Amino acid sequence: FELERLGVHESVEAVFPPSELADYLTDLPATVDVIGDDEIAARDAVVTLEYHPDCLECAWVHSIQSGVDRFPFDEFESNGVVLTNSTGIHGRSVGETVAGYLLSFSRRLHDLVANQTERRWERPAWDDGFTLPGKTACVVGTGTLGRGVAETLGGLGLEVRGVRRSDESVPGFDEIYTDDRLLEAIEGVEFVIVTVPLTEETHHRFDGEVFETMRDDAYFVNVARGPVVDEPALIDALESDSIAGAALDVFEEEPLPEESPLWGMDEVIVTPHCAAYTRDYFRDVGDIVRENVSRLGTGEAFHNRVV
Ligand code: NDP
Repeated sequence: FELERLGVHESVEAVFPPSELADYLTDLPATVDVIGDDEIAARDAVVTLEYHPDCLECAWVHSIQSGVDRFPFDEFESNGVVLTNSTGIHGRSVGETVAGYLLSFSRRLHDLVANQTERRWERPAWDDGFTLPGKTACVVGTGTLGRGVAETLGGLGLEVRGVRRSDESVPGFDEIYTDDRLLEAIEGVEFVIVTVPLTEETHHRFDGEVFETMRDDAYFVNVARGPVVDEPALIDALESDSIAGAALDVFEEEPLPEESPLWGMDEVIVTPHCAAYTRDYFRDVGDIVRENVSRLGTGEAFHNRVV
């Protein structure tokens, strides 16, 4: 197809100002502008956060997220619309967020910040704090996110196991388990970190059996997608102290409803689906878009093509 008009959909606002990306792409051989829902159908290509049915009128849709579970692949396929995603850019940001969660648990920073909001000078119990070297993390999903997490945690002295569907080794991981050995992989580790895409296979993969298998002093971290976790089972595990705590960036329902018990638990860190946020996000997305516009010109296959 000919790329004449590329729209940056206003939904990207949740992550960065749409105009920043439009400005960053002014050198493209196409008109680039910020658009709302009613202008999608008139564009050849759209860069977006949200799915809108008019996307099916475009020739190419680029998701600024890596997870594209909300996009109807079959309809893209049957309408001949190309779908690309932004995998490849979130490794370091999410890796550092996960390192932050772990350091908060080990150095008790979440407790201390909670005390500060009440002007309370209170030290942790003598046996609350610990350090990370020699502890083991099991990272489930060894793609961009998993590797970024493994690299960052490896630098902090943790041993890192990975879980994926194939048994091929992955840089940054000390050991790889295939996903049929998930329970074996998480048994005995201090941290379980989820970085898998949401698919039929991974939906509610982290259930009561998983939390039962984890050590009772282990922490659970989810930076992937809410529905990979059976949330009521996680809440049960936290309430019954069958695991020590959790850091959660994603939830079955977002925003996390005010009445969720997760908000009020001492050993739970809740973040609002922002593990990958960085001021460079629009540039990283823009570079993928620019690469694909150039490939479109030379007839090469799209980078990060999903459909
Ligand atoms: P990638 O496609 O790079 O990696 C996905 C990895 O998951 C692959 O290594 C794959 O390995 C593995 N995998 C797939 N299915 C299974 C399975 N059933 N069991 C175990 N491993 C599996 O994606 P990203 O790393 O970029 O992103 C992963 C997900 O994280 C996204 O889909 C998105 O939902 C979420 N995300 C969340 C963000 C946030 O802000 N919180 C930011 C970015 C992403 P193999 O093929 O060997 O199985």
